[in-house]
Amino acid sequence: MTQELRAEVAIVGGGIAGLWTLASLRAKGVDAILLEAHTLGSGQTLQAQGIVHGGGKYALRSVGDRAAIEAIREMPTRWREHFAGTRRPSLAPAKLLSDRCWLWLPREQWRARWEAWSLMPMLRHGGILHCPPQKVDRREWPEVLAQSALRAFAMSEPVFSTASVHQALAEPLRDHLFHFARSCEGQAPELEQDGRWKAIVVEGPGEHGVLRVQARAFVLTAGAGNAEWIERAGGQRSLMQRRSLRMFLLRGALPPLHGHCFLGGRTRMTITSHDLEGGRRVWQIGGEVAERHAGTSDLARAYADAQRELRTVLPHLDIEGLQWSSYEAIRAERSHPGGRRPEGVQVERIAPNAWAAWPTKWALAPVLAEEIEKRLPKAGEGLASPAAALRPRNWARPQVGRPPWEEDLPWIDVRSVGRD
Ligand SMILES: Cc1cc2nc3c(=O)[nH]c(=O)nc-3n(C[C@H](O)[C@H](O)[C@H](O)COP(=O)(O)OP(=O)(O)OC[C@H]3O[C@@H](n4cnc5c(N)ncnc54)[C@H](O)[C@@H]3O)c2cc1C
Repeated sequence: MTQELRAEVAIVGGGIAGLWTLASLRAKGVDAILLEAHTLGSGQTLQAQGIVHGGGKYALRSVGDRAAIEAIREMPTRWREHFAGTRRPSLAPAKLLSDRCWLWLPREQWRARWEAWSLMPMLRHGGILHCPPQKVDRREWPEVLAQSALRAFAMSEPVFSTASVHQALAEPLRDHLFHFARSCEGQAPELEQDGRWKAIVVEGPGEHGVLRVQARAFVLTAGAGNAEWIERAGGQRSLMQRRSLRMFLLRGALPPLHGHCFLGGRTRMTITSHDLEGGRRVWQIGGEVAERHAGTSDLARAYADAQRELRTVLPHLDIEGLQWSSYEAIRAERSHPGGRRPEGVQVERIAPNAWAAWPTKWALAPVLAEEIEKRLPKAGEGLASPAAALRPRNWARPQVGRPPWEEDLPWIDVRSVGRD
């Protein structure tokens, strides 16, 4: 049985890009809906570290990367407004993990001494950062850094639990979210004579049958799934690039820590922490170590390297009793020359009334939503609206997914990690 859904805007994919765009459009009175194939946020959003960068890390990576810094510099202030509930969508129910990120140079490294006297003053006083690293009295450093850091600076970049942000966004939008199990086998969108998308057809889970979705405009925000939709519509898969990462997880009696270890002109590790039951924590570890083991099948070697790296960035951390795990993550982005990370948000028109969009960063979702809104046709601009809004009866709703450490991952004891 085929059910019909008609809306002004149909968004495909409920990661941060899709949910934020849906929330923004609906707040402006646009009849928008969202279709999700799996669980909301599965993929990059729930794998992300939840750092609302203000450009600090990018300036560290490449001081010349100014366009990316420009796009992202307003985000910490903006996200705080959403969290305070003074700006819509309200993120008041979300969980703020830390109001700042630490940036530290590790002890016992000659390069750290050199950088403490050369690069750090330039970054702090050079005016290139919106959130420049602030000197903080050693007595206020987290204990783990007091033991292991030569210098530690605070950056005004908040860190959120991405799952809690997703829950906060999804909850009020529940009636506008639709779950499907698969798009009808290889089926291209139904087209108008002028090439506009008229409808897409998807299959519901279980006994739900088929859903035909008509809209005035379509927005693809399916992350890595955008490639499939673009191809099905006759476009080029190469519009999108994938960059993989091997993210590490460390679990046990760990202190809270949110920040980046900077050494040798590079972000060696980015660590964020999440509380678990029983007073334990999990550290989510990215940065250069995660880039280095992208696509690896030699996990023993990857853990050995991560453990050695941990000893370099936090030489006095007690790792007794801790456990490692890891997961592969794919960053799906608009293609960029040389496979480099694009600068800022990316929106690509793939049909007269259909766009594929990638935020590039989780924190840039508000900017992406604004860019999408600018491109959408206004009612009466020559693009026929579908007839009055129509919703299917009792259609399945998607749930918010879980972060990787709540999934069924294998964990290994630090003592079983060999030396590389
Ligand atoms: C390990 C890691 C850490 C990161 N850390 C940060 C950070 O700290 N700060 C930051 O700003 N950015 C960070 N990022 C980048 C950030 O996660 C992404 O830029 C952002 O989450 C992309 O969101 P998205 O909505 O475009 O895609 P996704 O989050 O991938 O969401 C896609 C959605 O579409 C659904 N979907 C997939 N296929 C289909 C389909 N065929 N049809 C319909 N729906 C589909 C998925 O289930 C999902 O709900 C990180 C990325 C990674 C990988």
